[in-house]
Amino acid sequence: MGQTARTTKLLLDLSTRDQGGTNPGKREHLTETVSILNAARRFYLDFFLVHPEKLMERVEVISKKTGEVREQVISADNLLTWAEFQTVETPDHPTPLPEWNFSRAFPGLPNRYRRSVIKDVIGKARGYLTSVRKWHASGKKQGKPGIPTASNHPTLYAGTFSLELDELDVRKSFIRLKVYTGTGWMWVHYPICYNRYFERRRAESGWETASPTLILSKQSAVIHFLQTKTIKARKIVESKRDPDLVTVAVDLNVKHLAVITVRQHGMIKATQFVSDHGLDQHRYQHLKRVAKKQWQAGKAVKGEHSNQQLWAHVRRQNLDCAHKTARAIVEVCEKYPECVLVFERLRKINAKGASRSRRLNRKQANQLKGKINQLAKEKAYAIGVVSVEVNPHGTSQYCSRCGCLGVRFTYRAGQRITGRGGKLFACPACHYECHADFNASVNVHHSFFRGAPRKRQRRVRKPRLSEYLVCT
Ligand SMILES: [Zn+2]
Repeated sequence: MGQTARTTKLLLDLSTRDQGGTNPGKREHLTETVSILNAARRFYLDFFLVHPEKLMERVEVISKKTGEVREQVISADNLLTWAEFQTVETPDHPTPLPEWNFSRAFPGLPNRYRRSVIKDVIGKARGYLTSVRKWHASGKKQGKPGIPTASNHPTLYAGTFSLELDELDVRKSFIRLKVYTGTGWMWVHYPICYNRYFERRRAESGWETASPTLILSKQSAVIHFLQTKTIKARKIVESKRDPDLVTVAVDLNVKHLAVITVRQHGMIKATQFVSDHGLDQHRYQHLKRVAKKQWQAGKAVKGEHSNQQLWAHVRRQNLDCAHKTARAIVEVCEKYPECVLVFERLRKINAKGASRSRRLNRKQANQLKGKINQLAKEKAYAIGVVSVEVNPHGTSQYCSRCGCLGVRFTYRAGQRITGRGGKLFACPACHYECHADFNASVNVHHSFFRGAPRKRQRRVRKPRLSEYLVCT
């Protein structure tokens, strides 16, 4: 049993009015709301840090399951009630602490926002107090934990937002947010960038949606819906005992981004090559340009970033490619329920030699491998497939049939040319020839089964010469 999470994003349309965006001024409302909530968070952070003893108070709790009485740190809900009692004016309780009167400082702030702010601050303040205590206990002079910052992305509890997706034409859909307009708190409609994937992901069964957060950046405003799902999956140890186990092995490379092989009962059942569709070459052209510009411009200015748009383009392409490759891997896994996904443990590779542009490109290719690995693991876990990493020792060098050390070669103009970097693999012992990446992928399966912790055999000690003499 485990849990996995994902974020589904909904973009607010902040383009100009004639392009279907918001009315002028609505964007400022969002900025203002965020800054007011940050100020409110500052208020409660100061309030809690003045009362640290309450924050860490131990209370007795009766367990619902066993009925036992235990001592525990006060729960966030109780703390919230206490904090509201101390700071908020109500008809029943008109006199909060005079120096901590929240109702006077922030008149009209919706109570849902206030609660989300308090809950947020409780976590921050507790984390701070714990790290300060640990720091004192360690006796170190340096590294004192800093006071947490108050700014954060606002969490939208029910009652501060509502999604209106019931319209027939979903392209005209809006989200209603409670924002500060400069004079008071009001409900304001914001058009959203409709996309069909959003609805599909939100409606997918098995996923639970938590309160969304509003992420406001310089260019855009996005609402993030965090979804969680409980996953039931077998442990690797249990899977290994299953004689009908299907293993899906992936070998990550540069040109063939992933070579996926499926094995059951010692036989390879399916193979799939995922190509990069010329990404490597394309990226190389861009990086050549970057390298040339850097060389022309001389020493880089500290704190400044050059070629930002080009780098952003490379990053976007890499990420997109990683997502697509990971998806291809997971689609293979989907066909074989209860399979195990096997990866090689990625090596740390230092790009060296060659030109600067080539080194940059190698670095990017290695990072892409890591990204594919990470994304494929996450996506596979969401469908209940567990992944393992195996020892990468010699996967590309040894024959997958007989285990002998092989050679790499390639055909050029009908001539066999042996050497490193050849696309093909040949075994001198059993004369097996195949694609080198395929061979590596099959070897990953071997690594997985070989990697089982074997029972240690007791070594028989060879008797010493003196012991022989005693016996005879
Ligand atoms: Zn062989």
